[in-house]
Amino acid sequence: MDRDRQNQPQGQAAGEPRRRDVVLMALLGIAVLAVLAFSGELSAPAFLAGALALAALGVVYFLIAASGSDPSPMPQIAPVRHEAVPQTSEILVERLPIPVLLIGPGGRIERANPAARAFLGLGAERGLLSTVLRQPRVLEAVSVALRGERGATVEYSTVAPLESHVRAFIEPIRLDVTGPMPFRAMMVLADDTSSKRAERMRADFLANASHELRTPLASLSGFIETLNGPARDDEEARERFLGIMQVQTDRMRRLINDLLSLSRVEMNEHVPPTGDVDLSLLVQEVVESLSPVALRRSIKLSIGQCDTKTVVRGDRDQLFEVVENLLGNAIKYSSDEAEVCVCVYHDRTRDSAEQAHERLTPDSGRLTLTSPVLDADQRYGVVRVRDAGAGIERRFLPRLAERFFRVDGQKSGPRSGTGLGLAIVKHIVNRHRGGFSVESAPGIGTVFSVFFPVSDSGAEANSTVESKVATSTDA
Ligand code: ADP
Repeated sequence: MDRDRQNQPQGQAAGEPRRRDVVLMALLGIAVLAVLAFSGELSAPAFLAGALALAALGVVYFLIAASGSDPSPMPQIAPVRHEAVPQTSEILVERLPIPVLLIGPGGRIERANPAARAFLGLGAERGLLSTVLRQPRVLEAVSVALRGERGATVEYSTVAPLESHVRAFIEPIRLDVTGPMPFRAMMVLADDTSSKRAERMRADFLANASHELRTPLASLSGFIETLNGPARDDEEARERFLGIMQVQTDRMRRLINDLLSLSRVEMNEHVPPTGDVDLSLLVQEVVESLSPVALRRSIKLSIGQCDTKTVVRGDRDQLFEVVENLLGNAIKYSSDEAEVCVCVYHDRTRDSAEQAHERLTPDSGRLTLTSPVLDADQRYGVVRVRDAGAGIERRFLPRLAERFFRVDGQKSGPRSGTGLGLAIVKHIVNRHRGGFSVESAPGIGTVFSVFFPVSDSGAEANSTVESKVATSTDA
């Protein structure tokens, strides 16, 4: 037989494995399409069209070969051509953005497309599957497929070094080869990590939202029962309970308003705003609207050195909400008679916007909660809110913009927070392609800064004026 092979023309000898490769790759392509169609990632018409095209390619190739005209125009240099001009089905599998592997006898990786190499961190050499994927159920399914028995879908998860959730589709493929091991295992990997994570976040969010609403509801229903029963004729108890019920109802209203606000912001986060907003004017309006709250606790609310006419690109109502949340927090988390100061700066680069003020202390905690993509030509208008409250420990800073996060044991008065304010700020800032950062030192205070792209039309109008105190409350 060896002699027969030697007697064959060189092109024919080289053409035979190539023909086999083409058929194998066509089969592999059809199997990949079938797996994608089976997993719902490919529609039935697309699957049929792809499968027919690949099958037709294989048949045409065979017919040409059978009629004696080898489709290779230069059979003598077939091995080189094989490297230089890959076949259509091979290109198809190579270009697929989904990891596809062909596993041979002993669990050796025979082929892996670039997506698979990147996904599994495979180098140039292709070793054993078990050295790159230590998932016993996957390896077991591969062994079963290599025996030609059946295919399987195996889900697996990893937690280290990174969390990931993957579905592995494994199918046996019979090759046109003689010998005891004619089967290969085709493996297609589907990365479900982001959908699983989104699913979990949705579930956590619903659980948190219902928990937050259930607590005041339970308390309201308890008071209603008491007022209907034992405390029916107790005037003093009724007054006290009605007061508590009012607080709980206000809390529920705030929670529902914040949830609605968050979902509105999320819905249009991908659409950048188009309006122009004068930040200095906006800050003055927010200060005026919150000064009665500050006044009640004798807190001195002031506008520090400000650049006037800092016009940024934005949605006025949303920017009002951002400044109101930050200033509201500064008042809420300050002790009575403390000072809260808000400043506006213009014409900052991204980096100077993030450091738009002196540090509170040399070792204060600092964190960027969200930041825009670097654009050297872009200038930003900055709002900075500083308080002299209890401050936030460094370890809590990364969690500040998480939904429902509240620092334990912090005093915030009767208007206890919902834990949604800073999450709303972060989403609005993202929609505006701006930035958001925090600096805090326990016992010294906290500074929150937000910045937004300066509007083209308002850029020239910006100028600096002297500081001005807006509200002095102790009078
Ligand atoms: P909340 O409605 O609870 O204030 P936020 O999302 O606005 O929710 O804030 C999240 C948490 O961050 C607050 O519960 C509080 O613990 C902390 N925090 C926010 N702003 C300040 C501040 N200026 N000083 C101290 N702690 C703050």
